[in-house]
Amino acid sequence: MNSKEREEFTNVIQKELENLREQLPSLEERMSPVSPDQSIGRLSRLDNMVNQGVVEKQLSQTRTRILKLEGALKRLEEDDEFGICQECGEKIPMKRLLVMPEAELCVECAS
Ligand SMILES: [Zn+2]
Repeated sequence: MNSKEREEFTNVIQKELENLREQLPSLEERMSPVSPDQSIGRLSRLDNMVNQGVVEKQLSQTRTRILKLEGALKRLEEDDEFGICQECGEKIPMKRLLVMPEAELCVECAS
C-alpha cells in the first residue's frame, strides 16, 4: 500500500470514527432507564423495554466498531499488515476496505 492510499484510508477511518463517536452520547442517553414513577402505561413500558434492547444492541455494535476501527487505524499507521488478509495473506481488495476498513479477512476467508 503506498502512502497516498494510506492517507486515503486514514481519512476514511477517521471520518467513520468521528461519525460513530458522535452517535454514542445519544445512544447512551436513550439507554438510561425510565424511572418507575413516570406515568407511562404498561404497553409503552413494554415498548420501552424492547426499544432499550435495540438501543443496547446498537450501542454495543457501535462500541465494537469503534474499537475495530481504532485497531485498523493503528495497523495502518504502524505496520504493513493493513489490507492484508490475516488468514491467507492475500491483499484485501480496496473496494472492500473502503466499505469496511476494519476488515482483517478477505471475502473468501470471511465467509
Ligand atoms: Zn483470505
